[in-house]
Amino acid sequence: MAAVGAGASPDAWAAPWGTRNRNRNRDVTAGDGLRSVAGVSVQFTILGSGSSGNCAYLETPSARILIDAGFSGRQIRQRLASIGRSPETLTAILVTHEHIDHIQGLGVIASKLDVPVYCNRLTREAAEGILECKLKAAIFQTGASFEVGDVTVDTFSVPHDAYDPVGFLLRTPAGDLGFLTDLGHATKLVQERVRSAQLLVLEANHDLKLLQSDTKRPWATKQRILSRHGHLSNDAAATVACEIASDRLRRIYLGHLSRDCNRPELARQTVVTKLTELGATHIEVNNTSQDTPCATVDLSSLGPTSG
Ligand SMILES: [Zn+2]
Ligand SMILES: [Zn+2]
Repeated sequence: MAAVGAGASPDAWAAPWGTRNRNRNRDVTAGDGLRSVAGVSVQFTILGSGSSGNCAYLETPSARILIDAGFSGRQIRQRLASIGRSPETLTAILVTHEHIDHIQGLGVIASKLDVPVYCNRLTREAAEGILECKLKAAIFQTGASFEVGDVTVDTFSVPHDAYDPVGFLLRTPAGDLGFLTDLGHATKLVQERVRSAQLLVLEANHDLKLLQSDTKRPWATKQRILSRHGHLSNDAAATVACEIASDRLRRIYLGHLSRDCNRPELARQTVVTKLTELGATHIEVNNTSQDTPCATVDLSSLGPTSG
């Protein structure tokens, strides 16, 4: 078949799903991801994702976290209201990087409501310049971990054309949740950092053929998107999904789809096909939408099968 899946480890291809020590490099039964506590409610909702805006919401017994604030303040309020929540009760906003589709509503939500913004120093400086406001920032060093209530947030650098872009692994009482969006390619380090995830938000920005045949974008823009500091294609996302597929990983949300250079079903099929070739049929692959929040998922419902 195509070279897309060629990056998957040979062991992963050979190993049966449902066994525990499938991965060559690690024991997937060990580590933090199995801290699931029966009965703990951890709810996750992607409020919207795409090239024009990205925002997600995570709620645990002691944390209410927005991950990126890439819609207008009004839109964020409306989308939170659609799940019965409001910005007033947020305890933190995490910011991946300063591009406007990740910070558009940050000034309104964070400054007016006094919600702490967790970001690195360069992202803060860039965001304050773009938004022309001061943020109440809780600065982290890229690569460090910090706590927000009962959530431990691991941060790691991703290759993207921003000042200091990061991905996140959010370790909650009901399992781990990975954020890999806006990255030109997924380094081994990046893949390792989200390997314990039960749920992964993964960029699938464009289809290569649709991008190449697009007439709206100038050549330089296409080169930027395709570069190693640009955005993940559907094929690249499928490769990443295969690389980090484990017994534990139960659900992938494909994010940041280009309106012009992608099709939701094409993105999903590209990833599903490669995962199916790998035998990883236990991983549900969902699309996200720019316009509509995804259904809320309870992380504890995605836990490893018992026994
Ligand atoms: Zn973006
Ligand atoms: Zn970006």
